Amino acid sequence: MLTDHFGRTATDLRVSLTDRCNLRCSYCMPAEGLQWLPRPELLTDDELVRVIGLAVGRLGITEVRFTGGEPLLRRGLTEIVARVAALRPRPEISLTTNGIGLERLAAPLRAAGLDRINVSLDTLTPEVFERLARRDRLADVLAGLAAVAKAGLNPIKINTVLMRDVNDHEPVALLRFCLERGYQLRFIEQMPLDAQHGWRRAEMVTADEILAALSVEFTLTPDDPADRGSAPAEAFLVNGGPASVGIIGSVTRPFCGACDRIRLTADGQLRNCLFAREENDLRTPLRAGASDDELAARWMRCIQAKLPGHGINDPGFLQPTRPMSAIGG
Ligand code: SAM
Ligand code: SF4
Repeated sequence: MLTDHFGRTATDLRVSLTDRCNLRCSYCMPAEGLQWLPRPELLTDDELVRVIGLAVGRLGITEVRFTGGEPLLRRGLTEIVARVAALRPRPEISLTTNGIGLERLAAPLRAAGLDRINVSLDTLTPEVFERLARRDRLADVLAGLAAVAKAGLNPIKINTVLMRDVNDHEPVALLRFCLERGYQLRFIEQMPLDAQHGWRRAEMVTADEILAALSVEFTLTPDDPADRGSAPAEAFLVNGGPASVGIIGSVTRPFCGACDRIRLTADGQLRNCLFAREENDLRTPLRAGASDDELAARWMRCIQAKLPGHGINDPGFLQPTRPMSAIGG
């Protein structure tokens, strides 16, 4: 088991399939994009399946979430999902995506074994979308969401990041939209993980502010905290339930003490935290013919170096060198 020095056990593996993206969300990337990883540095499908197979077969990983960058841009995604679904013990398989391309891929992904999906949606207004993501693609995201519902994926979770003076007037409309369609909405506080280091604490829309804005229109009551487990979102029942809304207060309400995650970047580096400043290289030994025992020992070293918290609120906090899109959000 991947248990760290603070008694937390990692069971949830986040796998970045690519650092590339077709949007340029301003809390994530600069307008001009980034220097993408050279293709030969990315783990191949076979390498990925071997590493994930080791994680579920020997190291206690029970959930695999594919992310990026934009994971739908990874060629062969459906086959990767099918191969991971064939592993034993079979992990739960989920995907975090901006939704562009889901219109075509939702049904094949479901058929390949995808269990759950999170779609990022920050606004319902085309102009705001274009300003925030620097691309005019809201219609594609909405078409993707409709396709996901039609494909029968359940639950459908929506991730929203609010930015001050950009989309912070929309939480009520977004919650209404999700309630009407049975989607589970979660607001995520903006974190200092953008490539251009533009995050400012004073500009961040906080969990308290989001709750206050929603409370003008809805009655929110905290859901039973015993049900939260290691989930990052604090759940609130809306108008008595059963529908709920989640708030992920990564900065003002950190949940590191219950963290059960570990991450693999698209170029084969293992990270024990989004905010880790060190990585454990799996790709080099993998390509040099390492045995499963040797690779497993690297996973153990990685988890044993996990710090108790992300440290964003410490005076000496340093943002990790890689941005969120290259780590896998
Ligand atoms: N491209 C996919 C997407 O947007 O869903 C997957 C990768 S993205 C990095 C994963 C999630 O991280 C998205 O929901 C996105 O909104 C969120 N995210 C990106 N940058 C963030 C930041 N600086 N703070 C908080 N969340 C962020
Ligand atoms: Fe792309 Fe996702 Fe980053 Fe937006 S948040 S730029 S969709 S990786």
